[in-house]
Amino acid sequence: MDLLNTLVDKGLRRETPTREEALAVLATSDDDVLDVVAAAGKVRRHWFGRRVKLNYLVNLKSGLCPEDCSYCSQRLGSKAEILKYTWLKPDQASQAAAAGLAGGAKRVCLVASGRGPTDRDVDRVSETIRTIKEQNEGVEVCACLGLLSDGQAERLRDAGADAYNHNLNTSEGTYADITTTHTYADRVDTVQKAHAAGLSACSGLIAGMGESDEDLVDVVFALRELDPDSVPVNFLIPFEGTPLAKEWHLTPQRCLRILAMVRFVCPDVEVRIAGGREVHLRSMQPLALHLANSIFLGDYLTSEGQAGKADLEMIADAGFEVEGTDQVTLPEHRAGGGCGSHGSAEGAGCGSHEGGGVCGSASVPQASEPRTDLVAVRRRGAGTDLAPNA
Ligand code: SF4
Repeated sequence: MDLLNTLVDKGLRRETPTREEALAVLATSDDDVLDVVAAAGKVRRHWFGRRVKLNYLVNLKSGLCPEDCSYCSQRLGSKAEILKYTWLKPDQASQAAAAGLAGGAKRVCLVASGRGPTDRDVDRVSETIRTIKEQNEGVEVCACLGLLSDGQAERLRDAGADAYNHNLNTSEGTYADITTTHTYADRVDTVQKAHAAGLSACSGLIAGMGESDEDLVDVVFALRELDPDSVPVNFLIPFEGTPLAKEWHLTPQRCLRILAMVRFVCPDVEVRIAGGREVHLRSMQPLALHLANSIFLGDYLTSEGQAGKADLEMIADAGFEVEGTDQVTLPEHRAGGGCGSHGSAEGAGCGSHEGGGVCGSASVPQASEPRTDLVAVRRRGAGTDLAPNA
């Protein structure tokens, strides 16, 4: 396919595709999905080899957010039955981080619900960062605390943070449909603040919220413009108890096309498969490793992922290798690292479902049918007495 040859050439040269080319990737048919993966896989291997970076989420403070992001189980008015707890103590967070690091993660993403941190919160998280860094040599730490005020990024950097995550999530044109309590411009501002403070910027998107292909291309081009080091790609987990509970739009093939498009537009950037990997890619997850060079190990903020051991086996079986702490994630011409996911697309609740015969049924649903059976609220790890999944 001429389109794919052109995109591989551009990806190897770090040249931006046109919007039409990016849209054309999303418009390819399921029959062509292996060709698309093979082409974007060449770009992935050129910049990142067969390495897979593992990141580990620690939810420092869960639920009870005053913001109204529709996709989020921690939002104002969420009926999702997620874990709710206030700030973990530095030692508790460090313990959770250590489990992820022992499982093979090299980066810990410290996430807290809320509009943004107060200065006291920044003090608290700074202490947590210092504790984690003292107790875990060589660890990379990313903070994901919401909208930043002036000076807060610098203080987090001074405490030892390597990166800051704040996702754009969706296009500027649709942002107000998803969230009303803050704006797209607020989010852009925070990513810029992180960048300006010398933190490695991490910013990504959520696919599957009912957006158009144009919206997806818009947000990915906006991300390229912001130039983050890492781009988490979330696939919406439509949690019961949130406004987007019925939005089941994604198939594994659609997810692969989206990841391929992100790889072509951001060829030398850490592309991370974030929330929704297990729910939407399902048994096609190994193919996605040919596109993304980074995943989260184990559980997400408020939902459970597949067992950490299964993540490691999948990576090995697919012919990839876990990136070590002695290996540099990004290509030489880029400085710094990547990050996690504030308010990722996951939230809570395997409960009721539509479409009939899914939970507990022997029948295998069609790809685009709701798979509420795969959505499990996190009930272990941070904020509980049970061991974390890592
Ligand atoms: S994404 Fe962040 S700001 Fe939005 S509701 Fe969830 S926790 Fe709050």
